[in-house]
Amino acid sequence: MRTLIQNGTVVTATETMEADVLVDGETVAGIAAPGSHGWTADKTVDASGKLVVPGAVDVHTHMELPFGGTYASDNFETGTRAAAWGGTTTIIDFAVQVKGEGLMEGYEAWMGKAEGNCAIDYGFHMIMGDVNDQTLKEMDMLMDEGVTSFKLFMAYPGVLYSDDGEIFRAMQKAAENGSTIMMHAENGIAIDVLREQAVQRGETDPKYHTITRPPITESEATHRAIALAELAGCPLYVVHMSAKEAVAEVAAARNRGLNVYGETCPQYLFLSLEQHLAAPGFEGAKYVCSTPIRSEAEGHQEALWQYLATNDLQVVSTDHCPFCMGDHPVYGTQKRLGEGDFTKIPNGLPGVEDRFELIYHGGVGQGRLGLNRWIEVCCTTPAKMFGLYPKKGTIAVGSDADIAVFDPNETWVKSAENHHMDVDYSCYEGLEMTGKVKTVLSRGRALIENGEYHGAPGDGRYLPRDTSQYLI
Ligand SMILES: [Zn+2]
Repeated sequence: MRTLIQNGTVVTATETMEADVLVDGETVAGIAAPGSHGWTADKTVDASGKLVVPGAVDVHTHMELPFGGTYASDNFETGTRAAAWGGTTTIIDFAVQVKGEGLMEGYEAWMGKAEGNCAIDYGFHMIMGDVNDQTLKEMDMLMDEGVTSFKLFMAYPGVLYSDDGEIFRAMQKAAENGSTIMMHAENGIAIDVLREQAVQRGETDPKYHTITRPPITESEATHRAIALAELAGCPLYVVHMSAKEAVAEVAAARNRGLNVYGETCPQYLFLSLEQHLAAPGFEGAKYVCSTPIRSEAEGHQEALWQYLATNDLQVVSTDHCPFCMGDHPVYGTQKRLGEGDFTKIPNGLPGVEDRFELIYHGGVGQGRLGLNRWIEVCCTTPAKMFGLYPKKGTIAVGSDADIAVFDPNETWVKSAENHHMDVDYSCYEGLEMTGKVKTVLSRGRALIENGEYHGAPGDGRYLPRDTSQYLI
């Protein structure tokens, strides 16, 4: 099956060119100026007036994650279908090691949940609940399975928290086997004290979720994680950064030549304490996630955009981890578990479908990012950072034909009414958008075309990953 995408503007992290793209089977077979070739195809896609871009790569999702007594409402089937609608053709989700069990058990459990259910290609990072002799050995075993990144938590004491000694031991192993350590960098010990004191004072509304996780709890942990990684000599990737003070720590480490990287997510760029967390009643629960969405008055959102433009932040992911405001048909009560006590609100929000279009809209559309930088932060760097390039993350001869055709001029309104994620609200309800994904190919097959979904569970394949291709 040969598909010819013609008369569009091909945009990659480095090029913007008028070109036709020939897809043969699952890969890109040719890129050439319109009229300069004699290619024939079984099918043509007219991309006149549109951008032809790589399928986006979301390196931070949590399908079906157990959290706080419930589960993230999107499973691998609904979550990857929604991702495709938003132009994302690869996800890297997090397999979880439950404390007391082995890493391999967690990996196999998550492989079982994903297999036969994903519409798009997928890989895994591994969340380490325990650091001990057994799990350190299993880090090597997972490298052989193509899991080349391990996530640790400085937050959530008693649940996923690791102390500095445990973190340091895992980092030493990463330095030895070439993997990357991903860090949830918040001082969870201090945060727990602040949360307990707030509840005692009767401060139970959702906005106290942000207020009890002030920026210094993120910047202190980020600083400490960088110091430990420098001491161990391993690459460090700080996930879901929201405080400008924390990103300043990443920037300073990078200026010293360290392999330290940072990601942020659309919610930290678009949402705020004042407008969202502090919304009347229980509405703010929609926006409870960790690290928290921060104060606009303190200027975090604009600072993050700027850090993205200057490559002090390298990646935009989603941390997609939705919970319904009303009852979920399978999982029942979700966000409302925390009515009357913000500490019981499940942490997480939807975004896997939103990210690629949002970063175009707020980045390119509002003059904060160039076109190529949009592709770099949403597609190319995520693929390089986690060992999937150039199979994923670009349009090049030989690359997987994961391609989105994007209309940069279409205007539309975001709403839970028109999204495809299995969650009953949108964080961006009513937002007037410019730019929309129109056609999506995954390894040459049309998943989205003419407003219809043609994918199926099981179309997506597991992606064993190489080590990071982004290191200094
Ligand atoms: Zn996460």
